[in-house]
Amino acid sequence: MQPVLVTGGAGFLGSHLCDRLIERGHEVICVDNFFTGRKANIAHLIGHPRFELIRHDIVHSLTVEVGRIFNLACPASPVAYQFNPIKTIKTSTVGMVNVLGLAKRCRARVLQASTSEVYGDPQVHPQTEDYWGHVNPIGPRSCYDEGKRIAESLCMNYSQAHGVETRIIRIFNTYGPRMDQNDGRVISNFIVQALKGEPLTIYGDGKQTRSFCFVDDLLEGMQRLMDLDDNDTGPVNVGNPGEYSMLELAQAVLEVTGSKSPIDYRPLPKDDPTRRCPDISKAKRLLGWEPRIDLKTGLEKTVTYYRKQLAEE
Ligand code: NAD
Ligand code: UDP
Repeated sequence: MQPVLVTGGAGFLGSHLCDRLIERGHEVICVDNFFTGRKANIAHLIGHPRFELIRHDIVHSLTVEVGRIFNLACPASPVAYQFNPIKTIKTSTVGMVNVLGLAKRCRARVLQASTSEVYGDPQVHPQTEDYWGHVNPIGPRSCYDEGKRIAESLCMNYSQAHGVETRIIRIFNTYGPRMDQNDGRVISNFIVQALKGEPLTIYGDGKQTRSFCFVDDLLEGMQRLMDLDDNDTGPVNVGNPGEYSMLELAQAVLEVTGSKSPIDYRPLPKDDPTRRCPDISKAKRLLGWEPRIDLKTGLEKTVTYYRKQLAEE
């Protein structure tokens, strides 16, 4: 069995993926430039005989021999990906070319971590994979959205032109332990604010919706898609169709934490999508997958993690 490469392996999703792959007996090469990733996420794997860590930026080419590549390298939080937008674009474009070039040489299968952001501020609801999206190509989110759209195009083109086996997973908002508490995404913000007794920052009127998937569910879907021996599936949505407004989410976080934090309304960031909800019929049909963990259970597990983190500070 050839090693599995996980780019972005020290990040939130990547580190959980490394754990699962090690558990399943794989040899894992984790590559990360530590922009948003943390050594703490993978510290427990250092020294494991089947785990190897390489500090590397995928914008530069990498020579390793691997059988499969999970390409997760890319900041995911709007705060992080807008910090250096040109770098974000390079990661999803030049980085993707490097990953696909490596796959071509090694005859490796590639799974690209795409995103619901390819749908932009969607006019079709819930979002199906055949919807082309509604993206502002010059807005503040475009470095991420358009980068991921080009990455999808590169996957399709390397598959058609060079026979590289590619899988595209369109991930909808995913949360859980190991999301950096300063990451800036809504669930980590709300939980940390609630636990510290600080106001929960709601952007806009809080009526915008998102669909939140617990990390374990997401990774199960990701692994099933990677294992699928079908090269013509195209992108597959993986997310939890339970749709919540940010006001409902804030309420749920207050209930789970028992916090009395007030709500603090802040300006809505430009181009913030109004609604987000996956149609997961394709994942159900192709992968036999659907999420099992509801929001309350997922929040409880995540709150336990942050309580421990804060207690250790
Ligand atoms: P994250 O920020 O925790 O992880 C990203 C990792 O990639 C970090 O460890 C970071 O240091 C690394 N990285 C960034 N640029 C790199 C580069 N140029 N070279 C090497 N490493 C680099 O975010 P996450 O939530 O774990 O997201 C992982 C992937 O899943 C990303 O590609 C993201 O776009 C995608 N995704 C995540 C979500 C979600 O809700 N979590 C939703 C949609 C898509
Ligand atoms: N959001 C919020 N308060 C926060 C952080 C985010 O109300 O402290 C909102 C944000 O405006 C968006 C939703 O929560 O409408 C999800 O934001 P996140 O950054 O988690 O992900 P994305 O916008 O990429 O889906």
